[in-house]
Amino acid sequence: MKIRYDRETCIGMFQCVDEWDAFEKNLDDGKADLAGSTEVDDGVFELDVPDGAELDAEFAARACPVDAIELYDDDGEQVV
Ligand code: SF4
Repeated sequence: MKIRYDRETCIGMFQCVDEWDAFEKNLDDGKADLAGSTEVDDGVFELDVPDGAELDAEFAARACPVDAIELYDDDGEQVV
């Protein structure tokens, strides 16, 4: 499972931070940071979701009010 985070779209509401601790508050930027992720495009970050964190990642993706977080299964199909 892979999570994709568009940091440009993020408006710093921090619901994701409450759902999954991989998302951290960056108060200087007013945006979340996704710990351990790789920037794959300008402002777009991806991370392989660790085993056992799938539900937390899904809740984080569903909680984002501006759909800055997408989740993909191992076949590349978008889950959230
Ligand atoms: S929930 Fe969405 S808008 Fe809020 S901090 Fe997380 S990514 Fe940004």
